[in-house]
Amino acid sequence: MIKTELEALRHELPEGVTLVAVSKFHPVEALREAYDAGQRVFGESRAQELQAKAPLMPADTQWHFIGHLQTNKVRPVVSHAALIHSVDSPRLLRAIAAEARRQQRRTDVLLQLHVAQEETKFGFTPDELRDFLASGEIEELADAVRVRGVMGMASNVDDTDRIRADFRAIRAALPEGCDIVSMGMSDDWQIAVEEGANMVRIGSRIFGAREY
Ligand SMILES: *Cc1c(COP(=O)(O)O)cnc(C)c1O
Repeated sequence: MIKTELEALRHELPEGVTLVAVSKFHPVEALREAYDAGQRVFGESRAQELQAKAPLMPADTQWHFIGHLQTNKVRPVVSHAALIHSVDSPRLLRAIAAEARRQQRRTDVLLQLHVAQEETKFGFTPDELRDFLASGEIEELADAVRVRGVMGMASNVDDTDRIRADFRAIRAALPEGCDIVSMGMSDDWQIAVEEGANMVRIGSRIFGAREY
């Protein structure tokens, strides 16, 4: 049951770690059940799905966007998301900033790191992130986007040493002055927290398997 899983997770998570309930592909009824059990922060990975669900949930629901975002789909995400975890290129950050200015908002974002061995994962390598930080562009966009920290995923492997090393590399890339480290999912969040995560994104453990 969603409520039971949420309560168990809240006991397991150390204080100061924010739980993002990843609700992608799950119907609004499931989100409501989580909301009624006290959950307020939800993670979605597709712009259209976020746009469809947001009006159906109470106004104090906090939406986090965690999926790959195309620059032509930023509008609904900037409208609804309290935090965009998945900024994986300078170009996307610029597009979010332009849209946030248009909507007269300031959007909080995380920069996504790519450290996993799979080539399909999006994000900055630690070197690319260092160069981007050095470019000064983040300061130029700061009126519209506030970079709050980093997000990343570990390699999809059983080798816990590798998973731990990936999380360590993500944590090490946290820019100075930033405070959010978003890492850890249903199967690896304990290691992520040990390695400094203060935000975890957990889906299937709460809502069960997704039907794509
Ligand atoms: C789907 C997803 C999650 C949640 O994964 P689970 O294994 O279901 O907990 C976390 N982060 C991102 C970026 C995701 O796309």
